[in-house]
Amino acid sequence: MAEVPGARAELDRLGRDLRAALVKLVEDLTPGTDLGLLPLGEPAVVDWHEPLGYRYSTTFRGHRPAGVAAAGIVPRAARSLGRAGWEVLEPAEDEEGGKGGEPEWATDDTGDRYRLTARHPDGNVVELRVDAYGSAVLFLGRTPVTALYEPREFRWPEPVRTSATLAPGHLLCYECDGLGACDCCGGRGWLPSEPHGRGRCPQCATRRVCPICRGAGELALSQLSAYQRTQYPELSP
Ligand SMILES: [Zn+2]
Ligand SMILES: [Zn+2]
Repeated sequence: MAEVPGARAELDRLGRDLRAALVKLVEDLTPGTDLGLLPLGEPAVVDWHEPLGYRYSTTFRGHRPAGVAAAGIVPRAARSLGRAGWEVLEPAEDEEGGKGGEPEWATDDTGDRYRLTARHPDGNVVELRVDAYGSAVLFLGRTPVTALYEPREFRWPEPVRTSATLAPGHLLCYECDGLGACDCCGGRGWLPSEPHGRGRCPQCATRRVCPICRGAGELALSQLSAYQRTQYPELSP
């Protein structure tokens, strides 16, 4: 796959900035938490349309110190993020939706937690969820979705068998005609689909090979079932 020049370096920079912002937030709001547990890992594919869209995301759980009210956490986070140049989003702007008009630190629909979502001008997003009754504070972060590779054009595979290369006593598979790969998806295991860009192939269910010959492209004449023989007009009596 051809890399998009500079895209990975830029995404890595955004990932480092995101982690640094989360570390600061965690230290401010839930001090004493083990930050060794705040991993970013590798960027993952979140948009399966070509070109594939990658991003870093991470989730971290801290605990509210004794004596700090749950309702006080989100306004403190909003001030701290605001000072660092983050924009606190109104619920209506929140990627996951929400009801407009309420202050961002209102409890959510269930009333079980307080929420805040903030976006940095560079596209990073952090989200806070504060348990209204327990002590848990959930910190979530995600970078913008980024194409790391040029779009790949799909090429239909070459057949594994042709009438010229059949093994002795074999016939071309009646389903895939020698292709070997699943002839519905072309061996990808998926088909283009909305909204995520890909959907499981209904014929091979991600196994990628022809379900009749299991990838061989040919079938042994001596092992054909009565039904399979009807697929070959030349075998009819
Ligand atoms: Zn398939
Ligand atoms: Zn086949």
